[in-house]
Amino acid sequence: MAKKYVYFFGNGVAEGGAEMKDILGGKGANLAEMVKIGISVPPGFTISAEICDYYYKHSKTYPPELKAEVEENMKRLEKATGKKFGDPKNPLLVSVRSGAAVSMPGMMDTILNLGLNDETVLGLARLTSNERFAYDSYRRFIQMFGDVALGIDHNKFEKEIEAVKAKRGIKLDTEMNVNELKELVERYKSLYKREGKEFPQDPNKQLWIAIDAVFGSWMNKRAIEYRRINKIPEGSMLGTAVSVVSMVFGNMGDDSGTGVAFTRDPSTGEKRRYGEFLRNAQGEDVVAGIRTPEDLEGLKKVSKEAYDELYRIFDILEKHYKDMQDVEFTVEHGKLYMLQTRSAKRTARAAVKVAVDMVKEKLIDKKTAIMRVTPDQVDQLLHPMFDLNEKKKAIAEKRMITTGLAASPGAATGKVVFDADKAATLGKKEPVILVRPETSAEDVAGMAGAEGILTARGGRTSHAAVVARGMGKCAVVGAESINVDDEHKLFTVNGITVKEGDWLSIDGTTGEVFLGQIKTIKPEGLEGDLATLLKWADQIRRLGVRTNANTPTDARVAREFGAEGIGLCRTERMFFANDRIPAVRQMIFSNTREQREKALDKIMPMQKEDFKAIFREMNGKPVTIRLIDPPLHEFLPQDEETLKQLAKDMGLSYEEILDRAASLKEFNPMLGHRGCRLEITYPEIPTMQVKAIIQAAIELIKEEKVNVIPEIMVPLVGHVNELKFLKEIITKTADELIKKSGVKLTYLVGTMVEIPRAAVTADQIGKEAQFFSFGTNDLTQTTFGYSRDDSGKFLNDYLEKGIIPVDPFKTLDKDGVGELVRIGTKKGKKVNPHLEVGICGEHGGDPDSIKIVDEIGIDYVSCSPYRVPIARLAAAQSTIELKEKRAKKNKK
Ligand code: PEP
Ligand code: MG
Repeated sequence: MAKKYVYFFGNGVAEGGAEMKDILGGKGANLAEMVKIGISVPPGFTISAEICDYYYKHSKTYPPELKAEVEENMKRLEKATGKKFGDPKNPLLVSVRSGAAVSMPGMMDTILNLGLNDETVLGLARLTSNERFAYDSYRRFIQMFGDVALGIDHNKFEKEIEAVKAKRGIKLDTEMNVNELKELVERYKSLYKREGKEFPQDPNKQLWIAIDAVFGSWMNKRAIEYRRINKIPEGSMLGTAVSVVSMVFGNMGDDSGTGVAFTRDPSTGEKRRYGEFLRNAQGEDVVAGIRTPEDLEGLKKVSKEAYDELYRIFDILEKHYKDMQDVEFTVEHGKLYMLQTRSAKRTARAAVKVAVDMVKEKLIDKKTAIMRVTPDQVDQLLHPMFDLNEKKKAIAEKRMITTGLAASPGAATGKVVFDADKAATLGKKEPVILVRPETSAEDVAGMAGAEGILTARGGRTSHAAVVARGMGKCAVVGAESINVDDEHKLFTVNGITVKEGDWLSIDGTTGEVFLGQIKTIKPEGLEGDLATLLKWADQIRRLGVRTNANTPTDARVAREFGAEGIGLCRTERMFFANDRIPAVRQMIFSNTREQREKALDKIMPMQKEDFKAIFREMNGKPVTIRLIDPPLHEFLPQDEETLKQLAKDMGLSYEEILDRAASLKEFNPMLGHRGCRLEITYPEIPTMQVKAIIQAAIELIKEEKVNVIPEIMVPLVGHVNELKFLKEIITKTADELIKKSGVKLTYLVGTMVEIPRAAVTADQIGKEAQFFSFGTNDLTQTTFGYSRDDSGKFLNDYLEKGIIPVDPFKTLDKDGVGELVRIGTKKGKKVNPHLEVGICGEHGGDPDSIKIVDEIGIDYVSCSPYRVPIARLAAAQSTIELKEKRAKKNKK
C-alpha cells in the first residue's frame, strides 16, 4: 500500500488522533482528536510533517503521489461541507495552517480565506447577503497571501489602506465601506504587479503556493531562532505539518464572534474559566488588539447555546486530555466551532496548583503531576522576579545595557556600590547591588548585604556565582563588556558610565543588566501546593538530596527546603569571619610548627562551635565536612593598612610580611599548593580541624543527646597515598578523642574525586575511602583544562560557534567528565561495595546533570540550599524517566 501522507477529519470521523503529534503536529493531531470525541470542528485534513522532511531532503519538492492525495481529500472536504472549492455559486474557503509536534506559537505561517477570487467573492457576498463581509474577507486574503506566501512587505499593503482611508478622512479599517474595500482589492492587485508578482485567481494554485509557504516557513529565521532559544534541537522534529481547514466565520454579524479561552486561570491556576471574546470578528482581530475583547460572558449575550456548549466542551476537554487546555473558537451564526485545543501555557504558580489540584480531582496520578512542573518553575517560585510589565518597559526604553552569565537566579534592583564593606553596611538601610571585577572570600559579608551581585569576570563556578547561589541571592557574573573602575567608583559599559549610587537592576535568571529601577515581585516560597508536590517527589526519587552548607543559617534554610544532610561544608569559608581572620593570618605567617599550632589553638574553639551549630541544625542527618581546600594566599589581606597591622600584631617588620606574602604567590594557584597538598605539608592544620569536628560531635552527644554523623572529607586527592597519609592522621586524632570521651561516635573518612587521576584510579582510592564525593567543578576544570575563573572569556564564543553544546560548568559534560564519574563510581564500588558516592559540584543542582548522575547510579547529589527543592523534583523526574526508558528497552 502506498504511504499515507494526508489525514482527514470532519463530521464525526478522523483518520488521525492526539497520539500522532509527531506527524500531524500539535494542531492537526488535536483537531482530529476533538472530532473523534464528538466536538464540533470545521472539517479539514492535515498533510503529514513527513512531507516537510521530504521537502527539505529533496530540493523543496514533494513525493509524486501527494498531489492526488490532496485532491482526493479536497473532494472529501467538499462533500463534508456541501461546498465546492472555486465554485462561484457555493465556494468552499479554507485556512492553511502550520503546526509542529512542539508548539511554536506565531513562528510559522498561516493563511485564511483561501479560495477567494474575483468570482467566488461574488458567491460569498450572495450567500451571506453581506457584500461588505465578502470584500473584507477578500482584501484580507490578498493581503495575507501576498505577505506570507509571496513575500511582499506588509507595510506596502498598510500604505494602500491608509491611502483609501485618507480619501474620506476615516480612521478605522472597520469604517471602510464596500466601495472602498473594492478599491482596496484593485489597489492590492496593482501592488502585486508593481512587485513583479501575480495574484493567482485559480484556487488550486493558491492552495499549493500556500502549502509551499507553510513548509517554507519551517526554516524561516524566526522559527530557527525560536528553536534555538527554546533549546529545541534541529532534527528533533520532522518539521511542520500543514492543516487545511474549512473556514468558519466569526465576522458574519452580531450572532457571530471569535475568542480564546483557558479551562483554568493560567496565571493562578484557579479553577475558573478564563478567556476573551470579540463579537463579529475574525481570529486575527483578537490577536491584533484593535478592539478590546469582552470576557467570556460576552459570548452569553451573543448566543446562550454556544456559551453553554463551550462550557460543556471545557469539561470534556479537561477530562479527555487530563490537563488544562487553551482553546480557540469561533461562533458562526450562533453555532460554536472549536478551532484549536492544546495544553495551556501557564505561570509557575499555576503549573504547581493545576498539577496538585488535578491529582486531588483524580484526573491524573502523582507521577504525572511531578512531570507537569519544570524545575525552572520551582526555581521561579523561590526567587524574586521582575514585574513583567516594568521589565518590558525597561526594554522598550533601551535601558538594558549589557548581559553576563545568568549565575544565580532571581531579580534585584538597588543602588550601585563598589566596595563590599560599604555594601554590608549600606545594605542594611537600602537596597544595593554590589559591582566588582570579581569577588573573593573577603567580599562575602558585602555579598550577603547586597540584593544582588554583578561581576565583570568569572564563570558559573567562580567564587561570586557559587557564593551567591549558596545565599539564594541573584547574581550576574562574567559581564565582560563592563569595565569596573574601583578607584573612581564607577563602571563603564558601551559608552555609558554608571556611578556609585546610581540605580541598577539585574536579572540572575537571564543575565540581563538594566539601568534604573525595576520593581520586583516577592517569591511564593515553599508552601502549600509546592510543598505537597515535593513530598510526592520525595516518595518517588531514588537519589538522595543533600546540601552544600557552610554556616548554621545555610544548614537551616536547606533543611527547611528538604535537604537530607550536608554533602559539602567548605570549612575555609568560616575562616573569614572578623573574629578569626587575624588568627588565620597568624597561622599563615608562622615560621615554625610551634607558632602555627599556637595560632591554630585559637581557631580551634571557634571552628568547634561552628560545627556544633551545624550538627545541631542537621540533627542526626549526615554532615560531610571538608578539610581546608584553597591555597593559603587567599587568606592574605590585600591592602597595605591591614598588612601593616598584621606585622605589628606579629612582631614582624613590614618587609618580612611582604616577603612571606610574596613567597606564597603561585602562577597557577588552582593547580598549586591547595587541598590535600597543603594538609600534607602542614599536618597540624587538618589535625586541628579534625579535633574541632570530633570534639563538637562528642560535646553535642554528651550535652544535648543530638545524634551526629560526621563525614570527614579530604579535598583534591589524585593519588591514593595522599589519602592514606591523611587518613592516618585523621583516624589517629579522632580515635584518641573518642576513646578519651567514652561516647559512642562513628564517623567516616572519605575523599573528593575532582582530579581525573582520582577517578581513573578509583579502584585504589576506593579501598581507603568510605565515601567519594565528585567535585565536578574542579573535575570539569581539570578534565577540560578550562580555568573556572577565566573561562568566561571564551566559553560564550565556543557556545555560539557550536564547539560545545552547553557550558560544562553548568551542565555536566556527559561524554568526558560524566564518563570519569561513571568510571570512578564503578571502580570505587567494585572494590568497596559499601562506598557511598555523591556529587557536590554545582552540577548537583542542575536538572540535566542530575539525570546523568542518576543513570550512572551514584547515591546522592548535594547542592546549594536554594537548589534543594529543584533537585528533589528533578531527581523524581529522572527516576520516572529512567524507569520508562528501561521498560522500553526491556520490551525491545
Ligand atoms: C568542586 O570542585 O566541585 C567542589 C565542590 O569544590 P570547590 O568548588 O570548593 O572547589
Ligand atoms: Mg573543588
